[in-house]
Amino acid sequence: MPMTRKKKPKREIDAAKHHAALAQADGGSQYEYDPTLAIEDCRKTGVRHMSGVFICHACQYKPNNNGRPHSWGSGKVCTELYLSKDNKTYRAVFNAQQCNQCNRYARFKVNEKKYVDKVLDTFELWTGRRAAYRSELHKSTGPHDSSRCYGCVKGICLE
Ligand SMILES: [Zn+2]
Ligand SMILES: [Zn+2]
Repeated sequence: MPMTRKKKPKREIDAAKHHAALAQADGGSQYEYDPTLAIEDCRKTGVRHMSGVFICHACQYKPNNNGRPHSWGSGKVCTELYLSKDNKTYRAVFNAQQCNQCNRYARFKVNEKKYVDKVLDTFELWTGRRAAYRSELHKSTGPHDSSRCYGCVKGICLE
């Protein structure tokens, strides 16, 4: 195993820091974030695609990048959602994507508003407060580099 440095970007990113935004959204105040919530304590778990931007600082000094970090947007960030049996606590984990220039996993900046909407929407579906949308019955299409997506590596991505 190579040495891991403390600040190395993670393959799995806990979404705890986005809880404040979720708690302020409509229907979000009933939820608490629990980063240790286990599958056994969940009424349901599942995967959703989130959108955001990945930023690879390691590639900042490559000639092509002119001193800027290499970044790319993705609408297919494989995200695991967990909802407790009592519908009070939840957690979410983003699966990172690898940089196509250096193969390192990059830092992730989620589109927080879309994230909050999608999480709350998913929990409404899981608790029977709404029916599934037609679009949820189909797999999404579009480019997705499965070899660089940690969700795909784990075999849980929607692709
Ligand atoms: Zn890179
Ligand atoms: Zn994937």
